[in-house]
Amino acid sequence: MSEFRFNRVTGDWVIIASERARRPEDYIIRMNRRDMPPHVSTCPFCVGNEYMTDPVFIEPANGAWKVRVIKNKFPALRPDANPAVEGGINTRTMSGLGYHEVLIEHAEHNRYLFDQNVDEMKIVLASLKRRYVEIAQDDRIALVVIFKNHGAGAGSSLEHPNCQIMATPVLPNDVRRRTEDARQFFDENGKCLFCGIIEDETKEGKRIVHKSEHFVSFVPFAAISPFHTWLMPLRHFPDFGSITDEELSDLAAHMRRLLRKIYFGLDDPDFNFVVRSILERLSDKRSFHWYMSFIPRVAQPAGFELGSGMYINASLPERCAEFLRKINAG
Ligand SMILES: [Zn+2]
Ligand SMILES: [Zn+2]
Repeated sequence: MSEFRFNRVTGDWVIIASERARRPEDYIIRMNRRDMPPHVSTCPFCVGNEYMTDPVFIEPANGAWKVRVIKNKFPALRPDANPAVEGGINTRTMSGLGYHEVLIEHAEHNRYLFDQNVDEMKIVLASLKRRYVEIAQDDRIALVVIFKNHGAGAGSSLEHPNCQIMATPVLPNDVRRRTEDARQFFDENGKCLFCGIIEDETKEGKRIVHKSEHFVSFVPFAAISPFHTWLMPLRHFPDFGSITDEELSDLAAHMRRLLRKIYFGLDDPDFNFVVRSILERLSDKRSFHWYMSFIPRVAQPAGFELGSGMYINASLPERCAEFLRKINAG
């Protein structure tokens, strides 16, 4: 029997269609990324082509670079735009104020995150934190989103490993609704919704993928798609920008392990990840809890999802978690 499951964090119902359920192994789609060279002379992100991009900062500042944060060449948003709201009630516009930057994760063209060592991964995460904190200081900004598109199926048009940072002066409806729901939950229950989920998931155990000193990753009870995984800090805080150095080290090791499980278990699928975080100055510190969401692109949303806003997941979250747990990520 299929069943509806309610996702307390997103407020969405998901259909877990276990009758149509495929085995986790059936989601493996082989990609052809393995034959890529470490350097491509025409790639704007490769060593030797630095003049082709406009840097925000480089890590380390001198010598051979490990990470470069650059301005997006065709930004969707830019910080020098005028934020004035114009138009009538039904034709409201605002110029595209915000930030749109790219973080180049490694000097080598074919060095994907799963293939970096923990120290390299930590430099990527620390650079994301640095830029997140810097942009958050611009008080015109209401939301900073860090995300990654890996592969064409996840919306990426560039091979060279990168993730993106976008910041907007407005809060999207989805984020506003989620933060208000979390605040209401806190008011009604006197505790953080997310801390409660971590407690329950840890106790139950069957959807856990990995637990480390400061983080836990698990397939949500009402996951919207196969192998959809959340990675949450055990300490309660709303803003990724407040992560400590010790937590960053643990996150680097934890995320590396999770990405390797996805890579080896599902044979290098396209995927997205996104950091869900609320700026400290705008948050009710007690009720929101930042986390990361990983979405392997092994099943595509179709007409029903578009028409209803409700997802059908043809896999059991418990089986997906068990599958990922067993993959040796060494
Ligand atoms: Zn390249
Ligand atoms: Zn919490």
